[in-house]
Formats: sequence, C-alpha cells, structure tokens
Amino acid sequence: MEQYQNFKLSVYCTVHDVMKMPDDYPAFLQTIAFFQKHLKLSKVYIETYRDDTVDSKKLLQVKDFFCRAGIETATGITTVNTKVGKVNVAGVMCYTNTEQLEELRRLFVRMAGEFDEIMIDDFLNTNCTCDTCRSAKGDQTWTEFRLQKMTEICRDYFLAPARAANPKVKITIKYPTWMHSFQRLGYNPETQPFMFDETYAGTETRHTTYSFFRNPRYTSYSLIRWLQSCPPHNNRGGWFDPYLCDNPLNSYVEQAYMTLFSKPEEITLFCFGSLLDTRYIPLLGHELARMDKFLGALGQPVGVKTYLPYHSDGEDNVYDFLGMCGVPCDPVAIFPEEPCTVLLTASSACDPDVLARVKKHLLAGNDAAFTAGFVRVMQDRGLEEFTAMRLSGTMMRSNHFGAFEGCWDAAIRYNYSGKEIGMPIADWKLNDCDYKAAMFSESMPNPLVTYTNYGSGRAYFINFPDDYADIYWLPDTVLDKYRMHLSRALPMRIEGQAKVALFPYDNNTFVLQSFLEHGTVVRVYIKGDAGELTRLDGGGKIERLYQVSGESVFELAIMPGCTMPLAW
Ligand SMILES: [Zn+2]
Repeated sequence: MEQYQNFKLSVYCTVHDVMKMPDDYPAFLQTIAFFQKHLKLSKVYIETYRDDTVDSKKLLQVKDFFCRAGIETATGITTVNTKVGKVNVAGVMCYTNTEQLEELRRLFVRMAGEFDEIMIDDFLNTNCTCDTCRSAKGDQTWTEFRLQKMTEICRDYFLAPARAANPKVKITIKYPTWMHSFQRLGYNPETQPFMFDETYAGTETRHTTYSFFRNPRYTSYSLIRWLQSCPPHNNRGGWFDPYLCDNPLNSYVEQAYMTLFSKPEEITLFCFGSLLDTRYIPLLGHELARMDKFLGALGQPVGVKTYLPYHSDGEDNVYDFLGMCGVPCDPVAIFPEEPCTVLLTASSACDPDVLARVKKHLLAGNDAAFTAGFVRVMQDRGLEEFTAMRLSGTMMRSNHFGAFEGCWDAAIRYNYSGKEIGMPIADWKLNDCDYKAAMFSESMPNPLVTYTNYGSGRAYFINFPDDYADIYWLPDTVLDKYRMHLSRALPMRIEGQAKVALFPYDNNTFVLQSFLEHGTVVRVYIKGDAGELTRLDGGGKIERLYQVSGESVFELAIMPGCTMPLAW
C-alpha cells in the first residue's frame, strides 16, 4: 500500500465498528473504499473489547479482510464496564474487583493469542471509591493508592499474561489528553513507559471552548512532546477524534497539524464508525498529503523547556496558552541539564527539589522563568533567594498596559487591551528587578514581565491572567515582551498578534501556525545573519527587512488558520 513518507496513518475500529463490518469481502472493500480514496491508510486497530466483545470468528474474519486488502492490523481494548462500573464516572472499572480482574486477564491472553500488537485506549484509569477500594486504599491518598495499584494491575493482569501467551506481542498504552489529572486516576507515566513496549498520546483537543478537557489547541503538540520526554522515550504516536469539531471544521485538522509538528512515527484516527462517509476525511486527506511534503525537512523540535514533573498539577496547561501566543513551550518530565531557559509553573513546584535545581541552572548562566502560580506556591519555601517578588493573593483589573524597551520615561509603548483583564497583584522591591512589561491603574503599576539577576543567569517573573485565555487580549507590544524574554536561549522569536503559534526546529527551520479567523502580519527575528526565508511548501522566498542588534528581521503575512513552514 502507498504510505506517507514521514508518518504512518492508522484508523481505530471499535468493537461496534468491527461488528458492523460486512461478512463478504467485496462488500467489505466497498466499506473501506471511502478511507482508501482519501487517505494513505497503513494500519487498523480492530478492537476486541469495549464494554462488550466481538467473537473471535468475526474478529479474525475482519483481520483477514484487512490483511487481504494490504492493511496492517493490531487489536485494541477499552477497559470500561458499565455493568460492574455503573456507579463510576465514564464506566471505568474497579481494580479491586477480582471477577473484573480475571476477565481482563482472559481478554489479554485472548488478544495476545490472536494478534502481535495490542493498543489500550485511554480508559485505563479509575475513579472507583467502592468499599473494597476504600479498604485497600487505607491511609494513603487516592493518588498514592491508584498510582501504585494501576502499575501492579498492568504488570500482573495485562503484560505478564499476554507475554506468556505470545512472547512477540507488543503492547501500547495510550494516555488521555488531560495529563494533569493522570495521577488522581492512576495513570503512572513514571513507571508504565518502562513496562509497556510503547506509549501513545491523546491529542484530541476537540473544540476547545465546549470540551471539558480545559486546554487550548497547543496541547495537541505539548502532550506528545511531554510523553516523548519521559524515559525511556518510547512514545510512538498521537491520536485524535472528530468530536465537537464540526464548526469550525478546521478544528479537526488543527489537531492533525499540532500532532504532526511533534514528529511522531504514527497518527491514529478515532474511530472508523465516526469518520465513515464524513466531510472530515476528504479534508484531512488533503491536509496530510500537504503536510507530508514538508515534514521531512523539519529537524527535531526545540523550545522553552517547561518543567512538568511526573504526577504534577497546578496551573494546569498554562504553558499551552503561552504556546498559543508564539512562545514555543516544550514540556519535559525531567529538569533539563543543558543550557536553556526553563519555565516553572505551579506544577513544577510538585518537585520538592525544584529550587535546588533552579539554583544550579541559574548559576550555570541560564535563565529560569517563574509563573505567577509558581511564585504563589514557592514564595514561603525559599524562592526569596532568587526574587523578592511575592503575590498578595489579591487581583487587579485594568485595560492599560506598557512594554518597556529600556527606561521608564521615553522608550515605552503604552497600549490598551480590548477589555479589562484580571491579573494577580505582585509585590516587589524597587530596583531589585528590571521591568519589561506591566499593567497600570492609578498609582498601582503591576509587573507582568520582570527579571532579577542571579549570578550570570536571570530569574524572570511571568505574570498570568486569572483567566488564562485572557492572555490573548494583551496588546501585541506586551505579548512581544513575553516572547522576547522567554525565547532568549532560542535561535529565533516572533512578534505580532496572539493565536499564532511558533514551532522551531534544530536545523534552521520553523513552522508558523495561525489560529486566527483573519489574516495577520508576523515579524520574525532570527539570531545572526540570515539573508532570506524560504517557504518549505513551495511558496517562494521572503527577503530580510533589516538587521538590528544581532538579529535578522523579516515580515510576512499569514492567511487565516494557515500553516507556514519556513527555513533560513
Ligand atoms: Zn472499587
């Protein structure tokens, strides 16, 4: 079968999709023809269990049909049981129920007997608080109990029995898009990637206003990057679906763009029945063919290392809102040792050793940037070593902002936002820090971007609106300061409106992705001497405007919702 050059494309077929597949081969070919017309389909996951199971005769017939059509097969499982788990949210299972566990063991043995690869959909978590779960938990927290319990269940009921039945079997665990809730529900990315053959990322951010996932589109990139950073670095792919994506339709393919910018080996579409004969697939097919032409020219992603330790929460997904504003946040589970700027959020504060790591990082001459949430958690736990900035717990609303080039009275751009924005009020010591952006109210300047020198590094304070999405309303001149200072260790940065994301790579290439409903102008600043930019999608070249302070400056216009890959 013809394949994409830069990734493999898979479609997931649920148990119910498998049950509906025709029993004769010509009719089967007609059913899958829609996908084959628009996509270069490499592989399908044909599911064995999802609250119900399909008998082996039918499942193996469908497997055989796909094989005859030249499409690779694997199986899958979704660990929900709406009978046993009827009191549990989303039908997730109880993992102290021995009858339930034995059924799972039998299913894994069966799947390993019939396939060489098993994908586990992202319901491998629990919110069960039944009598036996409460008793097994004892004095532990739910997080402690479930992190350990689910690790043991995977080892004893899934992996060991399946590998005993078929030593060749490859088993993949797919993580959901909501990473800051993992630990509460028992997903353990510290232990599980070492046990499973590979991991997979849920990049189904859907319509980000109406979904309850509580994250902007950038999560479709950042979650997969974070899982790629988890040892032993075996994340294979990203998976998205069409739910809530009807209007605007572009929201469906934005999930594909963001997933592919992280350069996974494979993407999976969920699911066959929800995509069959829909308008999503012709659109996606067109876009995947277009993306495949330039993805190979991109190197490895680089960005502002955003420290999200295992099992951390607090200021959930705040970095994704920065990502939507052109700060290329690149989450990592392990504190970076290399020279870079590291961004610390309230989630970073879950590492009890975080300040010792910050000190070492700053003393090595690097920058560390503390979000408002990080300051709030750490201000009475030693943060005063690096900054006098404190949060009083109060909030200020204003639409008046300033961005500072170098002094207080002349080189300033004062602008108004389109609405009042609520920001935490920061207390600081005058002349202890340098101000780069602030909000104003009479006699009450409130810093947004400041830094204090610590050794040869800079300790930045990065204020953030109480409603994270209000960052999109900040004047461009203020957003430019967020981008300029957080990107100091990167080869490039951009200026312009919010909702244009930047994806830089390590080989003088980058992608701009607009999420705007209208066109906009972006300024690109490349460090050093770059004479022109070349569009990697065949759109020609862009000449440099000028050079200033060691940067080459370009200006380009980007269409609504468009992707623009470039090189210098
Ligand atoms: Zn239970």
